[in-house]
Amino acid sequence: MQLLDGKVASAAIKEDLKNKISALQSNGRKLPHLAAILVGNDPASETYVASKVKNCKEIRIESSLFRYESSISEEMLLQKIQELNNDDTINGILVQVPLPKHISEKKVILNISPLKDVDGFHPLNVGNMVLGFPAFISATPFGILLLLQHYKIETSGKNVVVIGRSNNVGTPLSILLSRNNNEYGNATVTLCHSKTKDLKSICVNADIVIAAIGRPWFVTADMVKEKAVVVDVGINRVKDETKKSGFALKGDVDFENVAPKCSYITPVPGGVGLMTIAALLMNTFKAAEGSHK
Ligand code: NAP
Repeated sequence: MQLLDGKVASAAIKEDLKNKISALQSNGRKLPHLAAILVGNDPASETYVASKVKNCKEIRIESSLFRYESSISEEMLLQKIQELNNDDTINGILVQVPLPKHISEKKVILNISPLKDVDGFHPLNVGNMVLGFPAFISATPFGILLLLQHYKIETSGKNVVVIGRSNNVGTPLSILLSRNNNEYGNATVTLCHSKTKDLKSICVNADIVIAAIGRPWFVTADMVKEKAVVVDVGINRVKDETKKSGFALKGDVDFENVAPKCSYITPVPGGVGLMTIAALLMNTFKAAEGSHK
């Protein structure tokens, strides 16, 4: 069994981006600039945003963090987004989710300029992605594709099972992997969800299993065939009194028992999460370079 190590793969991507950013600057262009909006103080969101900002700094992407109390009105937040859309010094905008209940995530997504939508959630980017046109691809699916590419995992002709059909992970991933694209597509993809019958018999035939469910230890050893590739997207906080924080991060896969059967598997943490950030950096660079159009 070999780890699909997000630390190794994201470091390689970041090194490459760092060189490209230096070249951009040598050509008289400005450094890429990401604007991140954080509403409220959800601890997980705080961690994610801090990590995104830190990673930007590492490869010389400028970042501006705009923090708001959870009481901010939807109107004020949309106004801020409009201001950033019109600001020529900003290349990419991300609004960390979840948002407070009184703010519509849908409205927020629709109000971010598709040209600065580095999270790839705007319908125009999703539509372009589906059609195979240039687009910002949502960071988590994009990160997973980059991880598979880094480890030269063949997808063409393979049976892939994606468990979970969220708009930001499972659904776009299933489309990307089944596209007629030699780099990462040409797989036969089965997209499973909570109404899927006999999930185990579907998974056990898969060459690649991708779990994006949000339930710790959901994928067990009896669901995975020998030598399968397993990608664990899940990030679940599980009570752990041995930790100072009182919790541990676990994926959706029972790593301990599944890993010995696999040819490759992602760890949690240290797998897909790091690749999501690498993909966001890549999208921000593309936004500055203009290669997403
Ligand atoms: P989500 O919106 O939470 O939806 C979960 C999906 O799992 C739904 O499609 C649901 O089916 C399906 N599901 C739930 N129970 C199931 C069951 N018993 N059998 C089969 N399918 C089942 O999904 P998400 O936002 O993609 O998040 C999933 C996990 O990934 C979470 O742990 C999240 O924290 C993590 N995540 C990680 C990253 C990263 O960078 N590593 C990024 C995003 C998300 P229905 O549609 O039928 O309800």
